[in-house]
Amino acid sequence: MMRALILGGITDASLLAAEIARAGIDAVYSYGGRTRAPADQPLPTRIGGFGGVSGLADYVRREGITHVIDATHPFAAEMSRNAVEACAETGTPLVALERAPWTRGPGDNWIEVGDVNAAGAALPEAPTSVFLGIGRQHIAPFATRPQHTYTLRFVDPPEAPLPFAADVIVSRGPFTLDGELEMMRRRGIAWIVARNSGGDGARAKIDAARMLGLPVIMISRPRLPERLRVESVTEVMQWLDHRTCLGA
Ligand code: NAP
Repeated sequence: MMRALILGGITDASLLAAEIARAGIDAVYSYGGRTRAPADQPLPTRIGGFGGVSGLADYVRREGITHVIDATHPFAAEMSRNAVEACAETGTPLVALERAPWTRGPGDNWIEVGDVNAAGAALPEAPTSVFLGIGRQHIAPFATRPQHTYTLRFVDPPEAPLPFAADVIVSRGPFTLDGELEMMRRRGIAWIVARNSGGDGARAKIDAARMLGLPVIMISRPRLPERLRVESVTEVMQWLDHRTCLGA
C-alpha cells in the first residue's frame, strides 16, 4: 500500500498536496514549523523536525511511508540532505520537486555569491538603501554593515528584536511586478539581495530590479547530494504512478 510523505514548505508542495488528495493517495504533509500560521492542506499534516536523519528514518518506518517527496525550499539544505540519507537507509524511493534556478538574462546586473556572508561583503562601502529579500534567519551578517538603510520583508512580524535597524514589511505575497516596482521606487532601493529560489512566486523582485537598472546580489543555491529531481507537480504524479505500477 502506498503512503507518501511530502516534505513541504513551498507553493508547489501545496499544489502537489491538492493533486495527491484528488488522486486519493494516502499521504502526510510535513511542515518544518517556521511559519506561525501554515496554510491548511487537504491531507493529514504534521509540524516540526523529525530529529535528524535517524528521526526521519524512524518516522518513515513507523508510519509505513513508501515514497518521500522533498518539496522543501531549495535553500532548506539540511532537510534535503537528511531526506537523501534517511531514504537510502530505509530503502525508500525519493524524488525532489525543485524548480530550476533563475538564470541571468539581458539587462540583469547580478553579482553572484556563494552564501549570505559573501552577500554582505559584496555590498558597497558607501551608505546605500538595500532590500534584503531573504528570510529573517539569514540577516545576521548584515549587522556588520550598519551604514546602510535596510528594508526587510517577512511572512510573520518579527518576534525578537532585529540585529540591526531596518524597515520591516510584513507580507505573505504573492508579489507582483507593479507592486515590487512601487515598493523599490517609494523606498529608494538601490541594491537588492536575493537568493536564487527559482520559480515564479519570488521572481517579481528580480524583474523589477532589471527594469529599474538595479544591481542584485544573487546568492546561489546550496550544493546537495545527487537525487532524482523533477520540476513540476505533474512529473511527481507520474513518478508516483510509475512506481505504483512497478509495485515499488
Ligand atoms: P533546513 O535548514 O533545511 O532544516 C532545518 C531543520 O528543520 C531540519 O533538519 C528539520 O529538522 C526541520 N525541517 C525542515 N523542513 C522540514 C519539513 N518540511 N518537515 C519537518 N521538518 C523540517 O530548513 P529551513 O531552511 O529552516 O526551512 C524550514 C521549512 O521552511 C522547510 O519546510 C522549507 O521548505 C520552508 N521554507 C524555507 C525557506 C528558506 O528560505 N529556507 C523558504 C520558504 C519556505 P530535523 O532535523 O529535526 O528533522
